[in-house]
Parts: sequence; C-alpha cells; structure tokens
Amino acid sequence: MNESPLSAYLHIPFCERKCVYCDFYSIENLSLREEFVELLTREIDMKLAAYPQLAGRMLHTIFFGGGTPSLLTPHELERIVAKLSAHFTIADDCEFTMECNPGTVTLEKLRGYRVLGVNRLSFGVQSFDADELKFLGRIHDADQAREAVRLAREAGFDNVSIDLIFSLPGQKEALLQNTLDEAIALETDHISAYNLIVEHGTPLYRLVQLNKVIELDPERSAELFSIVQQRLAEAGFEQYEISNYAKSPGTRAKHNLVYWDGFKDYVSFGPSAHEFVAGERAWNVSSLEQYGRMIREGKLPRINREVLSMEERRTEVLYLQLRSTGLRIAEFNSVFGEDLLLNPEVTFLIEDGMLRHENGLLRLTERGYRFCDGIVTRLMPSEVSYVLQ
Ligand code: SF4
Repeated sequence: MNESPLSAYLHIPFCERKCVYCDFYSIENLSLREEFVELLTREIDMKLAAYPQLAGRMLHTIFFGGGTPSLLTPHELERIVAKLSAHFTIADDCEFTMECNPGTVTLEKLRGYRVLGVNRLSFGVQSFDADELKFLGRIHDADQAREAVRLAREAGFDNVSIDLIFSLPGQKEALLQNTLDEAIALETDHISAYNLIVEHGTPLYRLVQLNKVIELDPERSAELFSIVQQRLAEAGFEQYEISNYAKSPGTRAKHNLVYWDGFKDYVSFGPSAHEFVAGERAWNVSSLEQYGRMIREGKLPRINREVLSMEERRTEVLYLQLRSTGLRIAEFNSVFGEDLLLNPEVTFLIEDGMLRHENGLLRLTERGYRFCDGIVTRLMPSEVSYVLQ
C-alpha cells in the first residue's frame, strides 16, 4: 500500500448569494443540496473503484471548500464523512477544515461539525466595514462575523481562521487599519488576507469594464499589502505565504501547505474540484448539472487531466514552494538536475533583498512576498522584469 500522506478536498457548490468578486463555482439553488450530497458520495465510491491504489491511504488533511460548506447540515456532513471513512484511514491528528460563511452558522451546527471531527474553521469575514461588505455582496455584517468566531470558540474549536480582502476600489488606509485591528481583536489563530483580484467573468469584472468601478492601481495595492504585513507582524502573526499569517507554526494551514508543496498528493471531489495524484493533475466539470449527469451515467465527472513536463513541473515547484514556506534547495536540485545556488539570478535576488537562503531553504523576504510572480519569472530563462503581485 502507498504509505505517503494524502489530502482530500471536497467542493460544496452552493452559496446563498454570489459575491460580486467571486469566480469559484457555486449556484444559489439550495434545494439541490440533498441530491448533491448523494452524488458526492457516489463520486467517492466511483473514484475509489477506478483508482484502487487510493484505498486505505491515510488522510492527513481534509478540506471542505466552496461555495459555502457551512450550508451543509451536520447530518449531511456526516454522510460524506462516513463515506470518506469507508475508503480512507483518517489520521488521528488529521487537520479537518470547514470553510464557513458567518451568515450561515449557529452554535448547534458548529457543535455538530465538531462532533464529526472538524477541528478547524475558516470564516470568510472579508471586512468589518458595512459599506465594503455591501460592495462585496456579502450576506453577513461585521457583528455576525464577530459572533461566528465567538460561537466557534464556544463550540470547542481551538483553531480558527478568518479571511480578509484588501485593495478594494478606493480603499483608504484608515479603513484597512480598522479592519486589521478588528481582526486582531478577535484573537484568531490564523488570518488570510487577500488582495482583491478582478477575475474575468465576475460581476465585478463587468463593473470595471463599464468604468462603474475603478480598480486600485498596483502601487497603491502594494502599499496596502505592506500595511497588512506590518500590522499583522506587530500583532504576532508570522507571514508564511503570500496571503497567509499564522499565530504559531502549529496553526499554519496544513492543507494549503500541501497545495504549495508541489510534490504532495491530494484527491478531490465535487464540481470544479482539482486534484494532483502521482504526478497527474485532473479536474472536474464546473457545472452541477453536468456533474450529476456524468455520475448517473457511471462516469467520473472529470473534464480534463494532464501530466506536466519537467519544465512545467520546475516552474510550478518554484512558484508554489517560494510563495509559501520556502523552496527546498537540495530536493529541487536533485529532481531538476541543477544547482540553484549557482544561478546568477538567485545571487542577484538575494543581494537585492528579495530572497534569503537559510536552513537549506530559499525563502522570500517580506519585500519578496510582494513580488513573488516577478521573482519566479526572473528564475525562468531570459526574463528580467518584476511583476507586482
Ligand atoms: S460566499 Fe464565498 S464562494 Fe460564495 S460567492 Fe461569496 S466568496 Fe464566492
């Protein structure tokens, strides 16, 4: 049996209402939830029948993302967890995360999740300002966000994270400072702070195209990014990835660290979910209707799969490991047959204060995190410019 650790991602494709900036796959028809849970459990069975080598592997992290996983009742979650348990071994110290929308949780529901083994909650808070929340299209207000974190503690969760978004159009420094202060006051174990990206195909993208919303310019975004870094560092959070800050090494998001490793396996289930197993990347259809049809026809609901070339793998590993806890130099050199420390670009980036070399790792500095894409580009052949994050 393959003894290497495995992670599992499950995509729950429902939201009460779509947020203006969001390009994750989800639909607002919540009445299809029960049917979806049945389909999801069938997909798990089908994948394990198609890939018997996955059977019995130990899950070290489980992540329910979406969409809004916290729309699931504990009973619905129980059905899915039972199916995972039937096929995999769940490690005693498995990190089991549920993404939650503060507008969808109750104490009873969170207690129900806890009983089922969920031990980490990630709340999409985004902002504590009423106008910003309205602009983003969130279904909750700041009080509900504060109350959700309080309920999580009451339900027994000792690993709680919140998501924030900055670089909103016209965002003033004082508003961002206030949101950061409010977030810090909640004393969560982890904070993710994302730069707002105007994703193609979202309502926000259309508003920008129509000049109804003006994006913040990249220099201003970089200034706000720097404020986030400084304020969270002062509050004792360690930045261990471009957008992620942990109170201690033990509260880093283990599941996401698997994604950012570039070598570790994760399976996934649900519409639009992506997986990476034994060097092969595959992803499911981004349509619940098509997902259901394919499963009923006895087909895995995949839309594509690919095996990356060595050159593509090199780029991916560089990007993923650099953006998080650091690139493992010896392993990289051995897999890709080079000596990174002899690369003149690496020497230049270290001297320029973008990278540092410590404990066998090549790591971004605080400034380097703001230029990650450009640094990776620089480590590709014949490219020289920095591109702002
Ligand atoms: S709640 Fe989350 S997944 Fe749903 S639309 Fe908003 S950002 Fe996207």
